[in-house]
Amino acid sequence: MLLIKCPWCGTRDMSEFSYHGEAHLLRPPAPAEVDDAQWGAYLFARKNPKGLHRERWMHAHGCRRWFNVLRDTRDDRIYATYRPGDSPPDVDAGDDNGENNGDNNPGNPT
Ligand SMILES: [Zn+2]
Repeated sequence: MLLIKCPWCGTRDMSEFSYHGEAHLLRPPAPAEVDDAQWGAYLFARKNPKGLHRERWMHAHGCRRWFNVLRDTRDDRIYATYRPGDSPPDVDAGDDNGENNGDNNPGNPT
């Protein structure tokens, strides 16, 4: 059983939450001015790290608010949850398999 701490409601079972992919994605400010490759990268290219990953979750069966989770994909350990607009906390996952591992994805726009 995975427990997730909603920043507003506290710790609950993961069955109350829904996962919505990578966090901190920025929509191009002028979509009409980007080419198809840039738009496609915004829509579809996502990190798939083995290690720390910043994710968007929603407390679907609770307060229905969005928040972010910093989770290690190797063991599902959740290092932190934080409200949208807050900076992700600096954490040490204990090795070098951290946040930047997703950059090995050739389709990654960053
Ligand atoms: Zn909640």
